[in-house]
Amino acid sequence: MMRIIDELRGAESIAISGHQRPDGDCVGSVMGLYLYLKRELPDAVIDAYLERPADIFGCISHIEEIKSDFNTDRTYDAFVALDTVPDRMGGAEEIYRRARRKINIDHHISNPGHGDVSVVEPERSSTAELLYELMDPEKIDGETALALYVGVIHDTGVLRYSNTSPRTLQIAAELIKFGFDFPRIIEETFYEKTYRQTQIMGRAVLESMRILDDRCIVSVVSRRMMEFYRAASQDLDGIVNQLLSVRGVDCAIFMHETGTLEYKVSMRSNGRVDVAAVAVRFGGGGHVRAAGCTMNGTYRDCINNLSALIAEQLKDK
Ligand code: 5GP
Ligand code: MN
Repeated sequence: MMRIIDELRGAESIAISGHQRPDGDCVGSVMGLYLYLKRELPDAVIDAYLERPADIFGCISHIEEIKSDFNTDRTYDAFVALDTVPDRMGGAEEIYRRARRKINIDHHISNPGHGDVSVVEPERSSTAELLYELMDPEKIDGETALALYVGVIHDTGVLRYSNTSPRTLQIAAELIKFGFDFPRIIEETFYEKTYRQTQIMGRAVLESMRILDDRCIVSVVSRRMMEFYRAASQDLDGIVNQLLSVRGVDCAIFMHETGTLEYKVSMRSNGRVDVAAVAVRFGGGGHVRAAGCTMNGTYRDCINNLSALIAEQLKDK
């Protein structure tokens, strides 16, 4: 397997980025690689670009160094894209396009490969796990380890989802050897919710409905509701997983309004439905059990379009 450092040696400037609305794996991977390269290539300019990460990720060292202003004239010698395809990079896509050498590292089954060097391993729990394999374990320090650990924890639902392999657990074991306070990190970044997050989750659960013979559960949060609870998109993380945990449900759909007749869709399944295949049909992507897309239309139209594809899959089973 390639070593990330071999691909970057000689580069005087390196940009690292991930996807819009960065989740724990995206933030943890970007910061893990950023901290690693800062130490390994001290003479290079290394910049990490991401939309502003949620406050919970404040446990990651130097997170305040992330650049959320994507306006730059710089042409980087190398660009490392983590956990994403170009059209999901948001403001960083321009920087990616201009970069002299493009490296793609991802674990999404829907990533078809892009750039000059492409490492896509869909069987990996997380991009953070894959990145660990591309690093020299001797060169990883506690700050890098913590960032990667956050990535692994978030994409595996704390080492619980079926994407967790024996290797994932081995890597997690190596990472916690650095001695950071992992129970606190799990609690504060994964489980703990603000009061308003808890309230809007309650509301979304209360107003959910089951369709397709109760095998699919759906809930929608409108702009008005988000304003009422003063909730941002990031405050809705975890709702779709909560919906999937209802007994008898094979598939959960959670949508929130992001603009006029525009919805961000999150889907989860227990494996009986391939939600990545559904999301890809609407320009999104993800994994078999967790995927998403952005859709236009009324929420009824969106649900009808999604549920038609899900019904087709369920009728085969
Ligand atoms: P979530 O529902 O947590 O936002 O995303 C679930 C999974 O689907 C994640 O792996 C995420 O990266 C992926 N995903 C969510 N939305 C999109 C999208 O619009 N495009 C692509 N390509 N992947 C998405
Ligand atoms: Mn990921």
